[in-house]
Amino acid sequence: MTSTLTPMPLSSVHPTADSPWGTYLMQVDRVVPYLGHLARWVETLKRPKRALIVDVPIELDDGRVAHFEGFRVQHNLSRGPGKGGVRFHPDVTLEEVMALAAWMSVKNAAVNLPYGGAKGGIRVDPALLSRKELERMTRRYTSEIGIIIGPHSDIPAPDVNTNPQIMAWMMDTYSMNTGTTATGVVTGKPIHLGGSLGRVKATGRGVFVTGREAARRIDLELAGARVAVQGFGNVGSAAAELFNQAGSRIVAAQDHTGTIHNDRGFDMADLMAHVKEHGGVGGFKGAEPMKSEEFWDVACDILIPAALEGQITAERARRTKARLVLEGANGPTVPTADDILAERGILVVPDVICNAGGVTVSYFEWVQDFSSFFWTEDEINVRLDKIMIGALRRIWDTADRHRITLRTATFAVACERILTAREERGLYP
Ligand code: GLU
Repeated sequence: MTSTLTPMPLSSVHPTADSPWGTYLMQVDRVVPYLGHLARWVETLKRPKRALIVDVPIELDDGRVAHFEGFRVQHNLSRGPGKGGVRFHPDVTLEEVMALAAWMSVKNAAVNLPYGGAKGGIRVDPALLSRKELERMTRRYTSEIGIIIGPHSDIPAPDVNTNPQIMAWMMDTYSMNTGTTATGVVTGKPIHLGGSLGRVKATGRGVFVTGREAARRIDLELAGARVAVQGFGNVGSAAAELFNQAGSRIVAAQDHTGTIHNDRGFDMADLMAHVKEHGGVGGFKGAEPMKSEEFWDVACDILIPAALEGQITAERARRTKARLVLEGANGPTVPTADDILAERGILVVPDVICNAGGVTVSYFEWVQDFSSFFWTEDEINVRLDKIMIGALRRIWDTADRHRITLRTATFAVACERILTAREERGLYP
């Protein structure tokens, strides 16, 4: 008979093998053999420290009242305050936010930032809201989660469908409620409100920098390499521009407005102008439209999933022609697909290191806010590249030493740091 003192699975969520929390739990299980004596603490990683569900009521422009479900989850605070973005999306759930918060813990530890992991979200399609409604929703949500966020406790940032303007409203709301000007409560702010140069493009830059290192190690020449990008938002488009500048051809792109293809490579300046005007890649004249499922069959060397979770399924993993997968998104590859990619000899640079550039520059922003001394864009980029390359090197050594994937190696490096802090702090009481 199982003792009731054995840790029981959480009753609040019902993960499946491919769902975000299920994916994360599997990733943790895989790292246990490499944790040594720290494995004793592993259960810490399998449950969030704290999860807040809030009601977000707002008055719509037409006088009706709408209610949205909001979340802020602090997965782990052993190494420092919580840190992670806030997403506005109709599919947001507690389970998804828990997984995203947990991936932030791993990511922040992987690049050795003095942060725990957190994430927030509102279950809403922001495209259906007017600017004023969006502002009211953001402000009410910020007030509701105000009991757990703060410059020294938990620092939100942009994620899917959130941006510097939304961060400005969050910063202002928190500041009004506390009678301060608390620039350090969120990152990813506009530049003149304590934002950092280089923050907007930082995630895409990190994807490029880690991708360039990985390509070098597998003798993949970036000049002439064909790149397919899923998700052409802040992350995907910035990474695509940098690969294009390095001589790669961006041959396929997909977002919620369509899927486009051009084997000769897109003219990136034209594509960026089109995306700015039309809100997505669909209808771009310099490419052929494609059926969305055909995206996964495109002849390419590098695949960059930079949209949502669970996109690389087992079936798509069998089909892709890429040699290198760079996870710009959080959680884009389900565990069965991960195994198939590994068997096929396709190298995956996992989300928890690949897209860590964004939070790394968020950290720079937070430090600059506290010192009220701001760095040049060059200083930001040089420091960012150094951190990303150093972190990837350490992960690669771990992967080589244990003959494990880069994902398990990143978890090994990160979880060792988190659980060491856990052990050193000790249990209270
Ligand atoms: N939302 C981004 C991520 O998933 C950035 C988080 C942050 O800057 O705190 O890494």
